[in-house]
Amino acid sequence: MRVVGRTPFASTLNAARRSAELRRLADGPRVDVVVIGGGITGAGLALDAATRGLRTVLVERHDLAHGTSRWSSKLVHGGLRYLASGQLGIAHESAAERHLLLTRIAPHLTRPLAQVLPLYAPGHLSQGAFIGMGYGLGDGLRRFVGTPDAVLRSPGPIGVAATLGLVPAVRRDGLRGAMRGWDGQLIDDSRLVIGVARTAAGHGASVLTRVAAVAASGDRVRLRDELTGEQFDLEARAVVNATGVWAGELDPDVRLRPSRGTHLVVESARLGGSDVSLTVPVAGSRSRFVFTLPAQHGRTYIGLTDVPADGPIPDVPRATDPEIDLLLDTVGSVLAEPLTRDDVVGTYAGLRPLLTSAHDDGETSDLSRRHAIIESSSGVLTVVGGKLTTYRRMAEDGIDEAIRRRLLPARPSVTRTLALVGAWPRARLGEIAAPGRFVRRFGAEAPFAASLPDGPGAARGVTAQELQWGVAVEGALTIDDLLDRRTRLGLVAADRDESMDAAAAAFARAGVDPA
Ligand SMILES: Cc1cc2nc3c(=O)[nH]c(=O)nc-3n(C[C@H](O)[C@H](O)[C@H](O)COP(=O)(O)OP(=O)(O)OC[C@H]3O[C@@H](n4cnc5c(N)ncnc54)[C@H](O)[C@@H]3O)c2cc1C
Repeated sequence: MRVVGRTPFASTLNAARRSAELRRLADGPRVDVVVIGGGITGAGLALDAATRGLRTVLVERHDLAHGTSRWSSKLVHGGLRYLASGQLGIAHESAAERHLLLTRIAPHLTRPLAQVLPLYAPGHLSQGAFIGMGYGLGDGLRRFVGTPDAVLRSPGPIGVAATLGLVPAVRRDGLRGAMRGWDGQLIDDSRLVIGVARTAAGHGASVLTRVAAVAASGDRVRLRDELTGEQFDLEARAVVNATGVWAGELDPDVRLRPSRGTHLVVESARLGGSDVSLTVPVAGSRSRFVFTLPAQHGRTYIGLTDVPADGPIPDVPRATDPEIDLLLDTVGSVLAEPLTRDDVVGTYAGLRPLLTSAHDDGETSDLSRRHAIIESSSGVLTVVGGKLTTYRRMAEDGIDEAIRRRLLPARPSVTRTLALVGAWPRARLGEIAAPGRFVRRFGAEAPFAASLPDGPGAARGVTAQELQWGVAVEGALTIDDLLDRRTRLGLVAADRDESMDAAAAAFARAGVDPA
């Protein structure tokens, strides 16, 4: 049987499912696990819990990936940076999780990304040796965790012609070649969150957006439907707080010191349409780099900064002028035609949920990227820290801890070998009968999305079908959900304006009133 225009999986998220599940929960029995927060950490926790047979509910007060998880560099890191600073445990964990994401969990949402660091005279020999040693160590870790050469190649030096072929926009005078390494890249971070959350829903979890936890204890959460204002209590055997930089709002015992990371958005054409990451050391530092990241919609992101962001936590952080200047100056130092403010078509900034340590007065770049599981006096378990790449491991550890402390009847974690909805072996992605842009976004589900009816398209070639899929299958409840998280058109104001009508039309075709 060929199913046309809808996903065959129980992983569909939409307004109708949300309403039905909220109704059932409001007067239903106690559940096993409530996860608060729909970023990558919360989505990962919900998937880990649901696939162990636990009755699981995830609540998110805005939309999936509304917080830090959509403001990342979209890299699946191999842990090189942690290796350089002697944090062997985190480095190994990163490389191991990158391996799983690239080869098993989400081959359709990830790809190998070449990172090219141009070398200029004088100093090219010593810089090349230093960078080469770092890339070499990272490559050793790749081999150690078993990622094959066919997925991530070994690093090495390349000549001037090859450098210019890969990054045509770089300055030629003094160029002596480059070091090239490889890492993993996501098509988009919010697509990973949506994929993990939908997979959890496919295994029976209730995934409820625009539902806020207004109070929480170890066995009960007060929930508020943000669309109607209605409130009700949900009893649970375990309550897990995965609210990232907002974790202290629900559990004052959690102490974080957020740091802001900013990216710029420029036209890829301005960098010669390069499909690799140009990597440039920050002046005066041997361990900090600015890099370009080829992205969706013909755009390239340039990141990133690391600036302490003390004080109240905004829903949507903003880039500052000094950060924009630092990024432009650093990348401009190796470009034939340096970028100017006029080249910046958008910016975005996110807050890292960094844990404070005993010595937390220094720069946030020195704070730990490890994750932690903290039980507060009220009994809420908070899972915080870490990063996108290691979400699965954080989730496994978090649910292990919930099971141990609450004596929950559950199987061991299965997420190491569990492919996300739409996942398909990397070598066979080309066999999927759908246009490439659909395959890169939806994997094995692409033929279903592509067969939806036609309608008005949005900016940058985003099709009517992609938008309708976002409403009918991926849980978009508002026009912003479509433009800011199902696609990333909202990163550029002109694209957003141009796409509003197409987004509204997609809701109409799906038979849903945008909230
Ligand atoms: C600039 C930057 C670049 C980064 N780049 C990378 C990278 O390339 N690779 C990588 O691996 N990692 C990267 N990271 C780290 C990674 O992005 C974060 O560690 C991760 O996204 C944190 O996810 P989270 O789910 O814990 O938090 P969030 O994504 O912030 O999710 C928390 C969610 O909780 C919700 N919430 C809050 N309060 C409530 C409530 N009361 N009720 C219901 N919901 C609530 C929020 O709306 C939010 O959606 C980067 C981080 C930054 C800041």
